Amino acid sequence: MAMVLGKTIHLHNTSFQELLSNRRWLRHELAHVQQFRQLGFFLFLWKYTIESFRHGYFHNRFEIEARAAESDESLDNFVFQPSNKQLQRSSA
Ligand SMILES: [Zn+2]
Repeated sequence: MAMVLGKTIHLHNTSFQELLSNRRWLRHELAHVQQFRQLGFFLFLWKYTIESFRHGYFHNRFEIEARAAESDESLDNFVFQPSNKQLQRSSA
């Protein structure tokens, strides 16, 4: 799974390669990076939490937006390819 905090996508039980090879998943997580940037770190976390309480995960408006972004090809411009060195460090 992946969890975005600010501009960092944290991965659990998966690899960078797996995330990078799945465009739709990558776009979804990038949408969350944009949401953090648009609202600011703490305001986004606060609003996301409120949305989750009120509507649950699936109907949280930030998740709806991120799912819509999965088919948005313009997000591919944000893709950053980690170097082999960074990949080795992350799997150490
Ligand atoms: Zn999401």
